[in-house]
Amino acid sequence: MSKYRHLFFDLDHTLWDFEKNSIATMRILYDEVGLMDKGVAEFDHFNVVYHEINDRLWDRFRRGILSREDLRWKRMFQTLVHYRIPDEKLAKVMSERYLEILPTQTHIFPHCIEVMEYCAGKNYAMHLITNGFELTQKQKLKNALLDTYFDKIITSEQAMSMKPQKEIFEFALRETGASVEQSLMIGDALDIDVLGAQSVGMDQVYFNPKQIAHEGNPTFEIESLHEMYNIV
Ligand SMILES: [Mg+2]
Repeated sequence: MSKYRHLFFDLDHTLWDFEKNSIATMRILYDEVGLMDKGVAEFDHFNVVYHEINDRLWDRFRRGILSREDLRWKRMFQTLVHYRIPDEKLAKVMSERYLEILPTQTHIFPHCIEVMEYCAGKNYAMHLITNGFELTQKQKLKNALLDTYFDKIITSEQAMSMKPQKEIFEFALRETGASVEQSLMIGDALDIDVLGAQSVGMDQVYFNPKQIAHEGNPTFEIESLHEMYNIV
């Protein structure tokens, strides 16, 4: 038995395969709004352009210089502008549909359910700490059959703070009644999940499936979720 009692998981890119699900969503959207007929010849190219723009705008959102609303439609608008389709109305339709379709997609990382079952079987209290949108995250969990595993779902909206800020971790500890010594954060982002947990003295598992080189100093590092068996 490990010293931990509370496991705080990140959702996107840690349990729920955001990359695969987002590509599947963009594929549906591309067909649905007829982008090929509007002159966007190749889906793969469109997909790469969108995800580059999205990453850039998410970074600005995370730093507090772009609002949630603007993030949602401007990522579509800037992608359309890239293809010389400066159609604000279409961008807003795509933005709405993206948010509707994305949480219906159900790709999760290998061994995710096994690991959830294993942790639940060992009576760990399991929670999520996520920067994603609350309603969207709850839909993802339900559709991917992950919703039954978590006691508390801590979102940035409730905490009025985002990872890596320490306030959201303090909020999570208060909400769950967990002590920091008995808590473990599991996430895919060194500068968000790992750094944030470190700022309150919480141990961390860095989930690094792509084996990205780094100079961080996480408590644990895993390449696959099944390595959690060695930790908890
Ligand atoms: Mg993540």
